[in-house]
Amino acid sequence: MKINSATFLVSAPDLASCPAHELQEFAFIGRSNVGKSSMVNMLTGRKDLAKVSATPGFTKLINFFTINNAWSLVDLPGYGYAKVAQRHRTEFNQAVADYLQHRPNLRCTFVLIDSRIPPQHMDLEFLGWLSGCGLPFALIFTKSDKLSPKALQASVADFRTNLAEVSEVQPEIFTSSSKLRQGRNEILGFIATRLVEPTG
Ligand code: GDP
Repeated sequence: MKINSATFLVSAPDLASCPAHELQEFAFIGRSNVGKSSMVNMLTGRKDLAKVSATPGFTKLINFFTINNAWSLVDLPGYGYAKVAQRHRTEFNQAVADYLQHRPNLRCTFVLIDSRIPPQHMDLEFLGWLSGCGLPFALIFTKSDKLSPKALQASVADFRTNLAEVSEVQPEIFTSSSKLRQGRNEILGFIATRLVEPTG
């Protein structure tokens, strides 16, 4: 898929504030620092598109970008903000949970996993929840350039084994490096196959 245009649309604090468009949505989520902003920038080819999401005040919002006037990339707030006060964390999780469970436009959620670190409880817990809700998801192992091909394979295999304990779904798996622009064609190709042709 060629990216002809990528523009920021809106930030939403909750499900009710999400845009009333009919574009199909592909969401990206992961633990803080997993490489999500770099991934959004790599996929769209716009160097500072995800800057919006990283701007203070926007990090806990659901950020919508319109791609090729054809689909929407949704940058979800990262999870794992252990330092955030409990009350705030609950609210922020609720907005994401509402969006994931009740947004009819959502086609697939990409869950980003840092390929350098061992399987994290928080990632597995989230994936177990997604899977239990019957929501479609795919995994993207980020920062692959930091590992040898062999170590990367081992890391993915290890994660798969752990995932099998919390989810019966065997998701599509991508490895990526925003630094080397690897994984871009595969991920965009996957999105293209999931875009349902509008009828009529
Ligand atoms: P976010 O918090 O999930 O949005 O993560 P960022 O995209 O801001 O990335 C966090 C850190 O990881 C930054 O220092 C990035 O430069 C680095 N990073 C992100 N993606 C890659 C990658 O593919 N390869 C390498 N080597 N570093 C990366």
